[in-house]
Amino acid sequence: MLKRLLIVLTLIAMIANSLTDVDAQGRRQRADAVDLLVLGGTIVTMDQTRRVIDDGGIAVSNGRIVAIGPRAEIESRYTSRQRVNARGKVLAPGLINGHSHVPMVLFRGLADDLDLQEWLTKYIFPAEAKNVTEQFVRVGARLGLAEMIRGGTTTYCDMYYFEDAVAEATADVGMRALCGQTVLRFPAPDARSYEEGLARAREFIERWKGHPLIVPAPAPHAPYTCTPEILRSCADLAAEFDVPLHIHLSETLLEVEDSRRRYGMPGVPYMRKQGLFDAKVLAAHCVHVDEGEIRALKNFGAGVAHNPSSNLKLAAGVAPAGHRWPVSSSPPLALSRRLRRPGSWRRTTAVGFAAVRLSTDIRGGTHGVPLRRTSRGSAPVR
Ligand SMILES: [Zn+2]
Repeated sequence: MLKRLLIVLTLIAMIANSLTDVDAQGRRQRADAVDLLVLGGTIVTMDQTRRVIDDGGIAVSNGRIVAIGPRAEIESRYTSRQRVNARGKVLAPGLINGHSHVPMVLFRGLADDLDLQEWLTKYIFPAEAKNVTEQFVRVGARLGLAEMIRGGTTTYCDMYYFEDAVAEATADVGMRALCGQTVLRFPAPDARSYEEGLARAREFIERWKGHPLIVPAPAPHAPYTCTPEILRSCADLAAEFDVPLHIHLSETLLEVEDSRRRYGMPGVPYMRKQGLFDAKVLAAHCVHVDEGEIRALKNFGAGVAHNPSSNLKLAAGVAPAGHRWPVSSSPPLALSRRLRRPGSWRRTTAVGFAAVRLSTDIRGGTHGVPLRRTSRGSAPVR
């Protein structure tokens, strides 16, 4: 009852103010008109000075934030027909998921308690061969997108088959994504051969390049599922269209041992030999890389997606998370250093803030000191 009374009184006060406050009318007429004002709430800016503004305001025009500041200041400078009351809420930049296979959400619970090789070769690849169609991908993408939005993610980097359907679903809901069309050395759900897969990747890039929300990319699945020829062709394709290249790299010890046995070198030098770093590489996992490889990744300007939840679930190991990971110098989506944010989920693993927390906890565990979570990553507590 009291709450209702309060609302009525507030409304009366607002109406009275709007009718009688001539000065305010004058100010509003002089204020710039924008499309949207979000007022009240605590704004976590993540700008250079890490400003946190209590009772803040945001002005949006043509889909872009044009001003952030204290609510009173924003209200005096801007006017808008659309106003959102954010009191009691936190306004922060969206999270970025650095690596995903979004439609695989439909395989959730299919096979647990397995290592990567067994999980992938005995369950996932066969299940994909039987079930993955364009419609499967479309439905799975929509479910995965809904879950990401709910978890605070607004941008993600994907790799799957029928990636057109992923890109369309993403653009439909207004999220941003780097969408990688997978290329493999064996038949895939959307390609009978490597040549067909590469042609599909080319068509996909031609169709989506320049889209305001989608950055297309070739996605050679991994060094161990591709031939040297496939890797080189994908690198050439990425360089030709000046788009990123998304790949799994050095995810398991077995993969690295195989690479040493077969090619006489671990993952990063092998990728370099195939010319992959001629492209803007986003490498997922990088669990088993040595100091020299980390330096090389940095020198090549490659981005690394840290996927702690997936790595733990599939017994791949713990990435050398104590390092300041290299960050792409020419990030594909202005992803900048947030490429380091964890976010991979293979069906059931952590998303959003849960993944951020897991990542920082792992760094704390591997450093032997607790880590403080900050808006710009993690730092040891001293
Ligand atoms: Zn992956």
